[in-house]
Amino acid sequence: MSLSKHSTTVIYSLFLTVINYIIAYLLSSKEVLFDFKNIGLIFLFSYIWLSLYKLYGKKKTIICLCVISSLIGFLIPALAFKSEAMFLQRLMKDFLFGYTLLILPILINQLLSMSIQPKKKIVIIDALFLTTALFPLLLFTAYYTIFGVPISVDSLLAVLQSNRQESLEFILTYTKPSIIFLLIAFGVLIFTVIKFLYSKLIPHTLVPPQFTNVRLACLLTIVLVASNIAFAEKTYWARTLQDTIKRHNQIESFTAESAIRKQQLNRDKHILSTSTEGNFALIIGETHARSNMSAYGYRRNTTPWLTKYADNDNIILLKNGFSNAGVTTSSLEYALTAKNQYNNISYANAVTITEIAQASGFNVVWISNQVDDNIVGRIGHEADQQYWLNKNHNDTWLRQKNQTFDDRIINCLKSIAKPSKKTLYIINLLGSHASYNCRYPSDFNKWDDSDSLLNAYDNSVLYNDYIMSNIHKLLFEKFAVDGMLYFADHGEELKLKFCHGTEYFYNNYKKHPSVKEIVKIPIYFSFSNKFKQENPELISNLKNNQEIFFTNDMIYDTMLGLMQIPTPYYQSKFDITSNNYSLTLKDLRTIHGKVKLEDCL
Ligand SMILES: [Zn+2]
Repeated sequence: MSLSKHSTTVIYSLFLTVINYIIAYLLSSKEVLFDFKNIGLIFLFSYIWLSLYKLYGKKKTIICLCVISSLIGFLIPALAFKSEAMFLQRLMKDFLFGYTLLILPILINQLLSMSIQPKKKIVIIDALFLTTALFPLLLFTAYYTIFGVPISVDSLLAVLQSNRQESLEFILTYTKPSIIFLLIAFGVLIFTVIKFLYSKLIPHTLVPPQFTNVRLACLLTIVLVASNIAFAEKTYWARTLQDTIKRHNQIESFTAESAIRKQQLNRDKHILSTSTEGNFALIIGETHARSNMSAYGYRRNTTPWLTKYADNDNIILLKNGFSNAGVTTSSLEYALTAKNQYNNISYANAVTITEIAQASGFNVVWISNQVDDNIVGRIGHEADQQYWLNKNHNDTWLRQKNQTFDDRIINCLKSIAKPSKKTLYIINLLGSHASYNCRYPSDFNKWDDSDSLLNAYDNSVLYNDYIMSNIHKLLFEKFAVDGMLYFADHGEELKLKFCHGTEYFYNNYKKHPSVKEIVKIPIYFSFSNKFKQENPELISNLKNNQEIFFTNDMIYDTMLGLMQIPTPYYQSKFDITSNNYSLTLKDLRTIHGKVKLEDCL
């Protein structure tokens, strides 16, 4: 290739890179504008496509294959976008997977054509390869047609977690022979069309005279296969499948052991009966970053109620509360069970907050504005009274505007009668989870949310403050609660990508200080006057410990401390309200023990 031809290829490659990158950016949730590694990779593969284009006689085939490739890359995540915010980096892996996939059969053709005769065999291999490449798209479309929702971890889990009877009915209902037949028929159709196209085009396109370097073709094939496998692992399909299997297994083993945990608790009922007589409340916040709360010194007045109550000594704020993980389920499966980062209790043996409270004579009321198809849901389903206010299982709940505000919790608390028995209230908010601008009514659009994601986030924090002021009032006045503990599952990164996530945290916290906000959470307590008078030591311990470092996986023991549930179930060294609380910054961890807390400040 001459120099001028080479520079033309470079210019066209740049052009293709820009086009594809813009499409990816528009399809994604637009959190980040530039990702130079991915831009570099698109450029590289665009260059390979264009080089192939220049080498071949019949250029239309190459254009066709290139367009099909881009479609394979973009289509599935773009369709799934409806259910899951698609970050640019993730979308890029799908795109690169598709973009590189069909370069392979061309290269393989080069190699095969030297040994395999007649060429008909090569046509069949090509057609099989293309049909396989297009099959995920077909499956995705079939799933979408049957269920009306894209394949996602949540939708697959909903299928897996329905009980056995339902699953059987499910399979019988949906896996009709007609559907299997249709899938096979579609596969055969695609195969035939591709085979026809190839047999018409291939005699002219195969083995262009310029392309005779077998070693280069071999090398390129190996590089492409390797990179394609690397991209494949990160595609929407692969991630969805891996995450679903992992979460399903976890939930199943946890649920399977529940009977054993309860038997043990039953044997110890005489010990547990010594717990206190009061009512208690545990409020679980969602995606609440303490650095964006005025009560923790934020420049905007996002928490007027909390600030006032903390100043008046009605609320005790922990200044250095941290999450034990970067994502909801991981964080709460530790916070709501005996398992924490500092003990060796196996996950299946970890007694839940619901189980221990019930065994200690408490009635458990569970009110949730989140869906229930995870471990938190399983813990909630053990409660005596349950109110699941977010019934929307079709996975679009994160993006629906004006439907899932946390004021549902207030309405629920207003509608239910105060139980006569001593009660533990567990309330799970939807809080400030993305999409932030869907978390509050328009009255709370104090900082114009059309301007920035940060404004929308701050509005959601302001709304949470309003919600909590109402919940607090109802709990203490109507339900005669003696002690309330609020904590968030995790915070949020609010400068670069506006997100959270364990993997994201782990890969980026050292590079960007704003990523550390994912584990910095608010934790606060409030008590009735009666409780304060009866437990002066606990109150003074808590005040002494206000500045001390604490991770939310010890919420379980702290709640047990408030409810005076005895050892061996309660461990005072994990209870921030105890003077036995013994963990220091050096001992503390996050991301389920993987990261030292002192590296997250
Ligand atoms: Zn969360």
